[in-house]
Amino acid sequence: MHEATLAENILNIALDAAEQNHAAKVFKVGLTLGEMAGVEVEALTLAFDVLKKNTPAEDAELVIKRVPICAACNKCGKVFTLERYNFFCPECDGVLILRSGRELLVDFIDCE
Ligand SMILES: [Zn+2]
Repeated sequence: MHEATLAENILNIALDAAEQNHAAKVFKVGLTLGEMAGVEVEALTLAFDVLKKNTPAEDAELVIKRVPICAACNKCGKVFTLERYNFFCPECDGVLILRSGRELLVDFIDCE
């Protein structure tokens, strides 16, 4: 399962950061997640909650910031925010170039 692997990676990043900062506890893990990253937030949170047990990140909360799908037309230059990614400009049929929406980043780790 994709989300479980992802949750494990995020947890490892958080635990590494805690270790480097000699922190006993991780409070929050900030995540930037594009709408097009293909991640189920609910599944990710669930997996994270299971994996964090008995680690310094036991009480850590995932703070997820969603990034909308944003694309620009290569013909008319218009920028669109899309519900789901589509490849052609609704106005002129030019090709849309993705600007954002695929992000998958750990933003910050808040630890003791
Ligand atoms: Zn266009």
